[in-house]
Amino acid sequence: MPLVEELRRVVGDAHAGRAGAAVLADASEQRAFAGRADAVVAPADAAEVAAVVAWCYEHDVAITPRGGGSGLAGGAVPVAGGVVLDLGRLDRLRAFEPEGWRMEVEAGMRTSEVARRAREHGLWFPPDPGAAEQSTIGGNIATNAGGPHAFRYGVTGAWVTGLEAVIAPGEVVRVGGPVRKDVAGLDLKRLLIGSEGVLGIVTAAWLRLIPAPEAALPVVAVYPDAAAGQRALTTLLASGVQPAVLEFLDAGAVAAAAGAFPGAGLGAGAGFMLVAEADGTPEAARAVRGELLEVLGEEGEIVHAPEDLAGVRALWRWRDGVSYSVVAQRGGKLSEDIAVPPERLAEAVAGTVEIGARHGLPACSWGHAGDGNLHSTFLLDREDAGELARAQRAAHELFDLAVALGGTISGEHGIGALKRPDLERFEAPAVRRLQHGVKAVFDPKGLFNPGKAI
Ligand SMILES: Cc1cc2nc3c(=O)[nH]c(=O)nc-3n(C[C@H](O)[C@H](O)[C@H](O)COP(=O)(O)OP(=O)(O)OC[C@H]3O[C@@H](n4cnc5c(N)ncnc54)[C@H](O)[C@@H]3O)c2cc1C
Repeated sequence: MPLVEELRRVVGDAHAGRAGAAVLADASEQRAFAGRADAVVAPADAAEVAAVVAWCYEHDVAITPRGGGSGLAGGAVPVAGGVVLDLGRLDRLRAFEPEGWRMEVEAGMRTSEVARRAREHGLWFPPDPGAAEQSTIGGNIATNAGGPHAFRYGVTGAWVTGLEAVIAPGEVVRVGGPVRKDVAGLDLKRLLIGSEGVLGIVTAAWLRLIPAPEAALPVVAVYPDAAAGQRALTTLLASGVQPAVLEFLDAGAVAAAAGAFPGAGLGAGAGFMLVAEADGTPEAARAVRGELLEVLGEEGEIVHAPEDLAGVRALWRWRDGVSYSVVAQRGGKLSEDIAVPPERLAEAVAGTVEIGARHGLPACSWGHAGDGNLHSTFLLDREDAGELARAQRAAHELFDLAVALGGTISGEHGIGALKRPDLERFEAPAVRRLQHGVKAVFDPKGLFNPGKAI
């Protein structure tokens, strides 16, 4: 019986079919990276996920898990045929226990919906990756996604206390749970977090929440160049002042987004920008805001520090749009997500521009200064295959730079399919042996997301 017919017997006629273009690519599609699959299947719950996995495992069919498809590393793109496992129907809230500051959600719930549910009860789920309306909590867990608030509050994995997953050859397991501490045995939950679907399928998670901060007060400062911005960043980090968010834009990113800046104007001296935010009770946020104004203003110019809710929201909407403003410069971009020790940020910023210039491409960076995490970007004409090829060569050099600066080739988007050749270049043989050993234990037939992550 054909594959689709077999899968329909498991999930019902409406929920299995031929794999259309929508599930053969992810948000990294500007690199024209699309895969191939024989079918797409959308199970209703963990039991159906287990049944699909069991069927695939028995028949040696590859399984590519898919959340919102907002990934930027080709992780959800099927590269070995087989089945795309769409987790979108697993979007239920299983439990909400506000008095315990926790909730259990299924993997397909949108990130924005997780945040909304928490807020309804005055609680907060701090991880805030940028594509929250599209991404799912399962995808966030599988990539251990970060975002601006990761600086103070940590990445997604820091907020996951328990996981339910389907492992080979089609079994539902639970690790951790509604507990705040758990050191019983090896931490398999941690192994699954960030595993990009190569070890198993996350079907649900217990998430830790905290009371939502009552106030959030941003401060924006500009500096003549990245070196001056680096001095301000290093001083701030050493000062003990604790902002919740600490973002940056380099000269190129500021220039691209300046037109829409909600503050009074940036002036000619805006060669580098830091955007910090104080949060907490109104009194605490105000106190930290005062410290930020002082430290960031020492050698920079404070250009905006809104205190009203509308002004604060407008600033963050602008920050969210930086990526689009950068794309608008030439119609396309190739962005990577290297991370370096924060005190080496300016070197990575300068290196990005130099590498771009060597390949004849304008370049800029912005991102999460406090975490030393750059969205290093080469601007290109989408229709020009030559430029895309040059940008890809530039990205390889960028990874060399990140590693030379003591950093990593991926701070938040993961390895997926696109960065695998680069991971291989930098990984010590012993580390690779361990990675593949873990994979073999979880997935002896190599059917979970083949061609990805390791
Ligand atoms: C505009 C924009 C802004 C972004 N901003 C950020 C940001 O600030 N921080 C950040 O970290 N990322 C960011 N991203 C990248 C992306 O949103 C994250 O990587 C996100 O976590 C992916 O979630 P998803 O549900 O879309 O996963 P997908 O893209 O569907 O999949 C990502 C990977 O996870 C695997 N996977 C998905 N669901 C499951 C599951 N249930 N079980 C096992 N494996 C699974 C897939 O196989 C794939 O390997 C951004 C992307 C865009 C387009």
